[in-house]
Amino acid sequence: MILIKTIPQLQEQLARFRGKRSSIGFVPTMGALHQGHISLINKCKETNAVCVCSIFVNPTQFNNPADFEKYPITIEKDIDLLEAADCDILFLPAVAEMYPPDDVKEHYNLGYLETILEGKYRPGHFQGVCQIVDKLLAAVTPDHLFLGQKDYQQCMVITKMIELKGHKTTPIICPTIREKDGLAMSSRNLRLNEQERITALAISKALFYIKENACTGSLEAIRQHAEQLLTNAGYKVDYVAIADAATLQPVENRDAKQQMVALVAAFLNEVRLIDNMVVNSEWSIVNSETFAPSKEMAS
Ligand code: AMP
Repeated sequence: MILIKTIPQLQEQLARFRGKRSSIGFVPTMGALHQGHISLINKCKETNAVCVCSIFVNPTQFNNPADFEKYPITIEKDIDLLEAADCDILFLPAVAEMYPPDDVKEHYNLGYLETILEGKYRPGHFQGVCQIVDKLLAAVTPDHLFLGQKDYQQCMVITKMIELKGHKTTPIICPTIREKDGLAMSSRNLRLNEQERITALAISKALFYIKENACTGSLEAIRQHAEQLLTNAGYKVDYVAIADAATLQPVENRDAKQQMVALVAAFLNEVRLIDNMVVNSEWSIVNSETFAPSKEMAS
C-alpha cells in the first residue's frame, strides 16, 4: 500500500494507474477502522483495479466540538487493517491540505434533506460532509465511490451533491455490517464503556422490533414503542423515524408497495449513535437506485 499525504502526489500516482486504463474505486473514511469499513474496501477491490482509501477526520462536519476532540484515532491499527485488505493507496491528508488558508467554503443546496433527521439535529453537518467529499472526489476522480448504508441519509446527501457538482462517479451503497449481537459497527463504539456497550444493543433491538411489526398495527404506535424501548434502556433519543426509503419523508399510513426505512439517533451518555434498517422484508439491502434524488427532495 502506498501512503500519500498531499493532493499533487496523489494525482501523480493516480495518473500512472489511469495510464493503464485501470478503474479506480474510492472509500472515504474518518479512520478508527473496523470491519464495516473493510467491507467497503473488499467491495471496492472486487470491482476496481485500484482501491483508494482516505482517512481524514473532517473538522467542518462536527457540529459539536467535544465530539470532534474525542473522535477515536487508531492510525497504526488502521494501516495494518488496510494492508491486510490489500488496499492500494491510503490518502492521509493534514487539515491544511484539504482546507488551505485561502479556502472558500462552498454551500450546497441540499433542500429538504438538510432540514430533517440528521440535518435537523446536527446543523451544518451535511454541509461539512459535502465540502470534504466534494474535495476528495475532485482529488481522486474515482469511477466508483463506496458508501455504507449505516449512514443512510449521508448516502442520499452525497448522491445529491454528486449530481449538483456533476462528478463523474457512481455511488455504490454497501450493507451495514453488525457485531454478532446486532450492534452496528461504528468508530464511536470505541468510546462506550462496558456497561454502555451492553445498553447500546437497544438501538438494533428497537429497529428489529419495527422491522418485525411494521406490517401490522399503527405505524405511529410501533414507532412510539420503539422510542420507549430506547428511553427505558437509558438512551436520550434525538429521533426514531419510519420514513419512505427513497425520500425520507415520514410514513404514517402503510402502503404495501412503499419501501420504508426505520432510522434512529440517540445519545448514550456522551456518545451519539445512529443506525437504520430497511423495513420491508422483501428487500434488505438498499441499492444505489433507491438514492436517486427524487423531485420532492430536489427543492
Ligand atoms: P466513517 O469513518 O464513520 O465516516 O465511515 C466511512 C464509511 O464507512 C461511510 O461510508 C460509512 O457509512 C461506512 N460505514 C461505517 N460503519 C459501517 C458499517 N457498520 N457497515 C458498513 N459501512 C459502514
